[in-house]
Amino acid sequence: MTEIGVNINPEMLDNFISLLKSCRRIAAFTGAGISTESGIPDFRGPSGTWEKFDPNEFHIDRFVSSVESRRKYWLHNTGMYEAIRQAAPNAAHVALTRLHGMGRLSAVITQNIDGMHQVAGMPDDKVIELHGSTRYIGCLSCGIRIPRQEFQHRVSPEGDSPPCDSCGGLMKPATISFGQMLTPESMEAAARETDTCDLFVVIGSSLVVYPAAGFPVHAARRGVPLVIINNDPTPHDEYAQVVLNAPAGEVFRRAMAVVDPDGPPLSGVRPS
Ligand code: NAD
Repeated sequence: MTEIGVNINPEMLDNFISLLKSCRRIAAFTGAGISTESGIPDFRGPSGTWEKFDPNEFHIDRFVSSVESRRKYWLHNTGMYEAIRQAAPNAAHVALTRLHGMGRLSAVITQNIDGMHQVAGMPDDKVIELHGSTRYIGCLSCGIRIPRQEFQHRVSPEGDSPPCDSCGGLMKPATISFGQMLTPESMEAAARETDTCDLFVVIGSSLVVYPAAGFPVHAARRGVPLVIINNDPTPHDEYAQVVLNAPAGEVFRRAMAVVDPDGPPLSGVRPS
């Protein structure tokens, strides 16, 4: 069902629909904004995390050097993990999975750490998680990675977490903090998709976090059409053929009603 009262530029929407119909190797690039309609707050929006916390608190150097910072990190991260566990994918996540099933979308490159694309049915190997995943915990020394549900119950209500069972190192949610490097594997996979796609669609990203924000610019410079769906303008709108400043879920509800008219309505999916 379409939402009444949401203003979407009709000409831009038509252009987006035409591109979705004609392209066969779409790369989607998603940021925190795709998940706000699932109830997971973004970082830079009006009720975003950086309105309430100082980003310097979450630098990796502080995590490594200070017990107090580690506690704060774990408490904040546990709150986010709980919100993520209870959230369900929304119409935009479901639409991307459907486009993949239709053989049009090759992969999702995401800055998100919430695992919502997989919950919506995207195969794990088609989701490139540039900033890691909050659903895993990793050791900063030996690199071991375990599912979060096997570890979370060992974190105290004060935010104290036990050391790595294998090597005694510091355990941390497997997300990339300020000051940490993105993995070469994820960067290479994202570069490959950017180099081979025939349409690049940004959904819900402020495009200010680098190196991730470089991918849409790279695609546009290759001559591939770039679409940006974001509530607010981004610094890269000038490279885009289509800019839709509107909620992603509603954009996809309207677009998929044309692209896949016989498909079921784009409702969310309950997490298992
Ligand atoms: P951001 O918070 O910097 O920007 C989000 C953008 O999404 C904003 O420009 C906002 O206008 C837009 N937006 C919000 N709701 C929208 C909607 N319904 N439809 C369309 N646009 C919408 O997010 P970012 O660019 O992804 O970068 C922040 C970093 O924070 C990411 O790297 C990510 O690792 C992390 N993060 C992830 C999550 C998550 O996993 N869900 C949540 C918060 C932050």
